[in-house]
Amino acid sequence: MPPLKISRFYIFIAIILILLTGCRASATPTFTAAAPTTPTTVVTELPPTLEMKAEPGAPGLGDSLYPHLGNAGYDVQHYTLDLTVNDVATSDLEGTTIIEARATQNLSSFNLDFIGFEITTILVNDKPAEFQRSWQELTVTPPGVLAENEPFTVEVQYQGSPGEMDSMAIQIQTGWITFDGGSFVLSEPDGAASFYPVNDHPLDKATYTFRVTVPEPFEAAANGVLKETIDNGDTTTFLFEARDPMASYLATVNIDEFDLETSQSEGGVPIRNYYPSGLPEEMRKPFARQGEMIDYFSDLFGDYPFELYGALVIDLEFGAALETQTLSIFSKAMIDANQPEGSEQVVAHELAHQWFGDSVSLADWRDIWLNESFATYAQGLWTEHTRGREELDEWVRRLYAFVREERESMSPPGEPPGDRLFNQGVYSWGALCLHALRLEVGDENFFDILKTYHERFADGNARTADFIAVAEEVSGKELSAFFDSWLYSEELAPIPGMGLEAK
Ligand SMILES: [Zn+2]
Repeated sequence: MPPLKISRFYIFIAIILILLTGCRASATPTFTAAAPTTPTTVVTELPPTLEMKAEPGAPGLGDSLYPHLGNAGYDVQHYTLDLTVNDVATSDLEGTTIIEARATQNLSSFNLDFIGFEITTILVNDKPAEFQRSWQELTVTPPGVLAENEPFTVEVQYQGSPGEMDSMAIQIQTGWITFDGGSFVLSEPDGAASFYPVNDHPLDKATYTFRVTVPEPFEAAANGVLKETIDNGDTTTFLFEARDPMASYLATVNIDEFDLETSQSEGGVPIRNYYPSGLPEEMRKPFARQGEMIDYFSDLFGDYPFELYGALVIDLEFGAALETQTLSIFSKAMIDANQPEGSEQVVAHELAHQWFGDSVSLADWRDIWLNESFATYAQGLWTEHTRGREELDEWVRRLYAFVREERESMSPPGEPPGDRLFNQGVYSWGALCLHALRLEVGDENFFDILKTYHERFADGNARTADFIAVAEEVSGKELSAFFDSWLYSEELAPIPGMGLEAK
């Protein structure tokens, strides 16, 4: 994501941020529930005579910055979101989310992350379940123990309008956001819980079905392939299938009146762009080379990882974009017709995230540089591809000068604080780290490292140590001192090959 405005160097200005909620979830649940003792009323997969020790699933996945995000004790395979929006002006909706999961321990209860709405019913394996709510934690107690390794389903029915949500990581509103004439969803890192009950951490990736019903003349656009459009008379239902594993913050549902433009990259990747109807032609231009970008990045990083791609423009002027899987979203301020080169770089940035961030996802939010530095460096790679190596070198020099000047406002790339997750350290400084790595190991090794890293962790999760291991394996070099100096040192490391020094 660059939730940011374009600066004079077409790099992104840091966001000013808010609080860190440093609360740590207790790592080990202490409550131990025995299996239910009144067999006549128990619903369980086991014979009623068999005692089964079960515990509540932990209310967080232990992320080092946001320990309470996500939940332990189960693994979600698939979400089906059925949302009927009755009033687009307020996003008043009736929702049913069906979660198909597998227990990873014997569960007496488990948590979901979910904020706002009135919950009318929760069913577990089609049987009514009890539930309690405390801020984003929704604790569900099924009528019987859920046995380890057994699949189960949770159906949550709810109604109301999504509330405003301030992210803990960035000082903008995130989640489902209603504006005059439509709505959009931008959830990184913690906004998904604003519109569906979810195991809200990238560690638990799942596939998705979106069934979104909106009143005429509105339309809906979500991740994945549009499988069906159903005309119900006064309303229309849009059915999307996202069949590749996806992190929860990358789920997006957008409502507006759209011009839909479809095409295909030369390499055969289908592209569909959703523009708000009447968007001027010059604001569509930054997307004109998306097909070329997809094919070029496929050469560099490995095959494009999903079924299709495309962009969606939000009919708002504020500065935000997000690499929502298969359908990146851009506010109008990010595709400023007066800054065509910068706008094209934003388009390249969000596209590159489909490999780095979406296909290879974080295992811990502290490693956000694995997303943002890679996408930022891809802007440089696109510059190199379109304008030559000298222009890339010039881009690197400007970036280095920018980081040196603004150093005090940044964290080292590998050490972002939880309340300033998207500071420029994880974008610009980290992108310099990748360029320095390229000079350190040579072009052939460098691009082999990127490809190998993507291939190895596609559809899964990776940590900084995983990337370093790949870099060392491919290059045959010991690189721990190199990465220590670039990712964790308070001082900007030099790039000797270009004569760049911090002092
Ligand atoms: Zn980004």
